[in-house]
Amino acid sequence: MSDGRIYNFSAGPAVLPEEVLREAAAEMMNYRGCGMSVMEMSHRSKMFDDIINETEQDLRELLKVPANYKILFLQGGATQQFAAVPMNLMKKGVADYIITGRWAKKAYEEAQLYGKANKIASSEDKNFTYIPDCSDLPISKDADYVYICENNTIYGTKFWQLPNTKGKLLVSDVSSCFLSEPIDIEKYGVVYGGVQKNIGPAGMVISIIREDLISDEVFPGTPTMLKWKTQADERSMYNTPNCYCIYICGKVFKWIKNMGGLEAMKAHNEKKAKILYDYLDESKLFRGTVVKKDRSLMNVPFVIGDDTKEKKFIAEAKAAGFENLKGHKSVGGMRASIYNAMPIEGVKALVEFMAKFEKENK
Ligand SMILES: *Cc1c(COP(=O)(O)O)cnc(C)c1O
Repeated sequence: MSDGRIYNFSAGPAVLPEEVLREAAAEMMNYRGCGMSVMEMSHRSKMFDDIINETEQDLRELLKVPANYKILFLQGGATQQFAAVPMNLMKKGVADYIITGRWAKKAYEEAQLYGKANKIASSEDKNFTYIPDCSDLPISKDADYVYICENNTIYGTKFWQLPNTKGKLLVSDVSSCFLSEPIDIEKYGVVYGGVQKNIGPAGMVISIIREDLISDEVFPGTPTMLKWKTQADERSMYNTPNCYCIYICGKVFKWIKNMGGLEAMKAHNEKKAKILYDYLDESKLFRGTVVKKDRSLMNVPFVIGDDTKEKKFIAEAKAAGFENLKGHKSVGGMRASIYNAMPIEGVKALVEFMAKFEKENK
């Protein structure tokens, strides 16, 4: 850490790799000799065209995206896709939702505006501290798709096994685990995520969509901008895209490639999470809130169970350079988001700080 930077455990917008920020800073005044920054250039310029093409190509390589899947860089965040998914996919007007947290629930509620959304499983009975058994769910015969939120940012759970959709299309919100590990794109119809968790600045969502699901046959009245076909036909440039965000995401993709790709990223993330979970499991003061087998590698909620001590911990942690550790209000306590760009030193330092706090606050 340098330049007065702290360890930022924010759930999103979140920490970015220092190397990426430095490169962007160096290119701010004059991007590769063109005399302007990427923020100032036309999205129709050759310069920007090269940026978006290379960004897409690098993502394709990292995730091994098959040729029959389109990659779209869209605005409106992940939340906009809560509407775009049913608008583009509900041909029979029915979809099944698995409710594992607040984001899945919001997507489910949004889908009800456009058709019949069924809740086929939920972990709300225990405040979303686990992932329900999805091996034999009552999948609707006429469902157009089955929907999950793969990593639950607020509650700290992760689907380590995808649901058995009984042949139906799987749609997954991967906002908070995007590029944290390799995934098999072919198991999904649509994978999408807001980039401000693990990839880049806020204000964009990347949707990876199987080509045959992109058509003119959409929910009546679907805005032009929300039709995936509009965006796919124009390579995400039907209107002015979030150019600067695309550029930074491209830099993060190169950073991940330099780190060794997604296998290496996964090993790095497992190592980091283990340090924190191991400590939580042996601590007599702190404890994790999630069923062990469903724990996320990215978002780690934990509590003391004493409001006064939790407030004290968060304040002292902040003073010591550990920012954004306050948990989401629906879980309480603390949450450490340890995305790709969080260095292992940050997690080690946090655990040392927690151990010290534990000693002083028995
Ligand atoms: C943050 C988050 C969202 C919302 O993202 P926006 O880009 O703010 O719309 C949706 N899903 C998950 C899993 C998230 O973590």
